Parts: sequence; structure tokens; C-alpha cells
Amino acid sequence: MAIKTSSELARGIMDLPSRDGGTARIRRVESLLDGKLLAKWLNAARDTKSHERIHRLIVELPQLRNDYNAASRDRVFMRFGAETTVRRDGKIVEILPADSDFSPITQEKIRRAQVLAERHDALQGILGRYSYSIGAVFVLARGEWLSGLITKHRRGEFVLEEEGQRPYGEGDAAFTILSLFEAGDLEKMRSCPSCGRWQYVRQRSYFACNAACRYQHYKKDPEFKKKAVVAQQKHRKKLKDMLRNQQALAESHGVTPRRKHGRL
Ligand SMILES: [Zn+2]
Repeated sequence: MAIKTSSELARGIMDLPSRDGGTARIRRVESLLDGKLLAKWLNAARDTKSHERIHRLIVELPQLRNDYNAASRDRVFMRFGAETTVRRDGKIVEILPADSDFSPITQEKIRRAQVLAERHDALQGILGRYSYSIGAVFVLARGEWLSGLITKHRRGEFVLEEEGQRPYGEGDAAFTILSLFEAGDLEKMRSCPSCGRWQYVRQRSYFACNAACRYQHYKKDPEFKKKAVVAQQKHRKKLKDMLRNQQALAESHGVTPRRKHGRL
């Protein structure tokens, strides 16, 4: 068995997330760096199983959070006192209301809770495949200790390897997603609706990666041509009005636009 050198080991170490969370500015910078690396990995991993699983996490995490929030508001899980959830093979089969529960438990609520529980378990199923170990390495060249998490890359998973960079694999991508999710920044991870390229965007209003992609996307819209004609008419009218105003202004000052552009 080959013995790994300390620099090889150090290359695989990922910083432990700081528990205090740091300042807002530091968190923003961290999110930006994490997001950019994740976008790079996603673009390189396209059409692989790794990409498929990670994509699912990006979509499902915020959606599931929103659906749980909505269900809580609708009192799907409302429990007073000793209400009991009856489960069979991990599935909710019955919810027994407590005496003081004013919100009636309906079949629809049971079904909704069940679907959410299934999605919740499926999410844990994806996350459960990733494993990490901890490491502390003395790096001779730097004369200091590095410590943190080491991602275990599984056979067949896509790993992004770049010169002088820590190998970044599916487990790293999953870890980044959870960090972004916790920081409330996961929604900034977007794929272009036209070409599918991933980007970590600064603005939530991001729509497509460039003007060409935006145009390609709009072109698919059957209303696009009609809208384009209207926009073109509006634009021409605006130009005409502007010109007319300029002329009127120039005339009221006793000069015509032509002379103004002349000697003076
Ligand atoms: Zn694009």
C-alpha cells in the first residue's frame, strides 16, 4: 500500500464549517466561493449520475422546506397535548387527535403528512450515501497543521480534479449545498433555462446567462413575436417623441438643432 505524503493528505482536507457562523460579510464571501466551485463541478459533471443526484438535492431541499412550512401553517402537524402519530413500516397510518386539538384531523392532512414524510426520508437517503472523516496533518512546506474534513470519494462518482486544487467530488458538492442552504443562499444556484449552464448568481433576479440565451428562451414563447412587435413600436414612438421634443426646445431658443451642431 502506498503511503500518502502529508502534502497529498493536506490537499484533501476541507475546512470545518465555523460554528459561530462568522460575520455576514465573511459568510457572503464563503457562500460565493462555495457556490462558484459547485457551479464549476455541476457544469463539468453534466450527464452523470452524480449530477443527477446533486441536482435533485438543489431542487428538493428548498421545495421541501417550503412545503413543510406551508403544511405547518395549515396545521397538518398541529399537536396539542397527547396527540399520537401511528406509523406502520415507517408510514403514518393514523393520527389520533388530543382532547384539546381544535384543528380537525382529516384524511387529506394524514395523506399530506405521509407524502412529506416520504420525501423527507428520500432526501435523507441521498444525503446518507456521503461520508467524511476528520484529519489533522502537519504540512512540512508550510510548517503548520491543517485540520478538517476529508471527503470519501466513492467509485463512479464524478470528481473535479484541477492542478493545485483539492479534488472536489460529489460528497463535497452535497456538503456545499447544505452550507448554502443553511446560509439561505441555495436559491442563487441556477441553471440557465436555455443552455443549462450552472451559475452561482449574485442577484436572485438572474434569468439567463447572457443576452443570447435570454433571446433563445423567449423565442420558444409563442407570444414572443407579438410582444417583440409591440416593444419595437413603443421604442420607435419613444424615439420620435424625443426628436420632436428636442426640435421644439431648440426652436423655442431660436436655434435649430442643425445650427447647434455647427460652429458653436
Ligand atoms: Zn445559457
